[in-house]
Amino acid sequence: MINKYDNMIRKKIEETFDLIIPVGIVVALVSAIAIYFSPVPKKFVIIDIIISFILLIIISLKKRISTEIKAMVTISMPIIVGVLSFVDGGFNSSGIILILLSNLISVLLLTKVKSIIVSLFSSGLFIVLWINAKLYNKGWVIHVRDAEWIIHFVVFLLVLITMQGLVATIRKYIHSNIEMIEKSAEITYKIAYYDELTGVPNQKLFKKQLAERASNGVEQGYIIFYNLKNLNLINSIYGETIGNKVLVQWANIFSDIKKESKLLARTSGNEFAIWIEKVSEKELMEWLHYMNKVFKNSFLVQNMDKEVEFYISYACYDKRDINIEECYQRASIALTYAKKNNKSGFIEYDKSFEEIIRNDEEIKKLLQNALASEEFEMYYQKKVDARTNEIYGVEALARWILPVGGRIGPNIFIPMIERMDKSIVFGEIIVKKIFTDYKRLCIKYGKEIKVSINISPSHLMSPGFVSYLSEMIDVYEIKGENIIIEITEEVIIEGIDKVNEILKKIHELGMRISIDDFGTGYSSFSYLIKLDVDELKIDKSFIDQLGENDKINTLLEGIIYIAKGLDFNLIAEGVETREQCVNLVQLGCFIIQGYHFSKPEALDRN
Ligand code: C2E
Ligand code: CA
Ligand code: CA
Repeated sequence: MINKYDNMIRKKIEETFDLIIPVGIVVALVSAIAIYFSPVPKKFVIIDIIISFILLIIISLKKRISTEIKAMVTISMPIIVGVLSFVDGGFNSSGIILILLSNLISVLLLTKVKSIIVSLFSSGLFIVLWINAKLYNKGWVIHVRDAEWIIHFVVFLLVLITMQGLVATIRKYIHSNIEMIEKSAEITYKIAYYDELTGVPNQKLFKKQLAERASNGVEQGYIIFYNLKNLNLINSIYGETIGNKVLVQWANIFSDIKKESKLLARTSGNEFAIWIEKVSEKELMEWLHYMNKVFKNSFLVQNMDKEVEFYISYACYDKRDINIEECYQRASIALTYAKKNNKSGFIEYDKSFEEIIRNDEEIKKLLQNALASEEFEMYYQKKVDARTNEIYGVEALARWILPVGGRIGPNIFIPMIERMDKSIVFGEIIVKKIFTDYKRLCIKYGKEIKVSINISPSHLMSPGFVSYLSEMIDVYEIKGENIIIEITEEVIIEGIDKVNEILKKIHELGMRISIDDFGTGYSSFSYLIKLDVDELKIDKSFIDQLGENDKINTLLEGIIYIAKGLDFNLIAEGVETREQCVNLVQLGCFIIQGYHFSKPEALDRN
């Protein structure tokens, strides 16, 4: 710090010297002329000329002379002239003033120690001059008494001490200020370029570092994105502290693995970016697989029994093909693609992704119109009691029929509606359509038929949801007990207590609640059963493996056993074959939904 400050001063001196020296030459020459025409001894003319000559040499050597020497010359010059004039004229001369001047220059230009040495030297000089005057009994000395000498000396010393003290205080003040400024600059830099939680660089710094790599001539590399898929869920199940721990641990794992030329950044809440260079695609793959293994064994944060899941995308940088920003863009497009299509594994950028994402944007525009003009239709799929073949109820499934013909499936448009934040608008459209259909549903499927309605988590949690339902059953004169609200495990993200509060109000309307796609979500069984629900719908993925996979059979047996014990209604969905149906009945699950009994069908509107 001190060195830094001194260097700064040195640089300043360097700059000002080039200005001061010509001025010094002019002053020396002018005073030589003035002395020549005055009663002052003529030797001072010669001294002044010598001084201007020395200064001329300094200026001509300029850069070859160090600042230190320049400073010493500047300091010694007034001392020499001062001593000479003192010897001649004592206190009446400008001697003392010149010596003080050289001291002033030294405290300003030299380091503290050096300037103290100059001060001590000057004080010694003062005494030597006095002894010298006494010994040789100079004419002027006779008129000065010893007491006066002492007073002069004390004043001289006081001036020196004051000068030293003053400059030291100023220096200290400047030092502490510079330190403060440096510290705050450091903090500002950290805030601007580093992630507070994990301490790794942020997106801004990452992009800057990438640009530096590229401009340093790096020819090849990979940008990889990691998106922590279920961070929200971890936050809501285990709390944000655990979520944060996962992030920090993730960043630490990467920081620990010393891969040559690796950059790491947290580019957004649940997203990290990595840069690796000079590796082949094969090496990259090995590294990614290796990392997956490391992650699998590393996320044992407290009692978390959830695995951390990722979307992983990457793009190749080749200096000859693209610039580094394009590469970043590509890796990010690949990540968007992976997220939108729920792709696991390592997703490498492909040109077609851009088309897919563009199409996505077009579909979004169409969807906006569809929401405005309610271009949706409800299909209904039966749920059948396999023991009696009686209809147990129906599930309402939305269909989007485009005005130009053709359809887009709910698996595409429902998540899009979510992303567009339009779940409430959409939810209200379908509830209205289903309630309008209700009378005809009773005619087709039987009196007081029970209708299941899929409700997205954000709609369920929206403030007016329950009062809207209550109003609608009044308007359409539908009994609450004939409505089943299907929600998914994702809803847990909102927090079990908050969800249960709403579920309780739905129960008060007489409606029942079902957990859809049971077993596929991220939530563990123990969390799910804390939800105040009446029904579990075992997901199709389990049914598909029924009879083929012993583990699934055992798992299903377990689920059915627990569900019965806890008084849950059980439904199997996506049942396509007779064999699956028989197996389920044997295991004790009797209510079946799937193509085996019927596909979702439109309601005849005639
Ligand atoms: P889901 O709620 O799990 O609905 C069951 C899906 O499985 C339906 O797909 C249904 O047509 C399909 N399915 C039923 N039985 C079988 C079978 O035996 N084999 C096969 N392969 N598939 C079968 P769909 O209608 O395409 O709906 C997909 C998802 O979209 C639904 O899954 C649901 O999550 C969502 N969705 C559909 N309609 C609505 C709605 O009105 N509101 C909300 N929020 N989501 C909806
Ligand atoms: Ca459903
Ligand atoms: Ca389902």
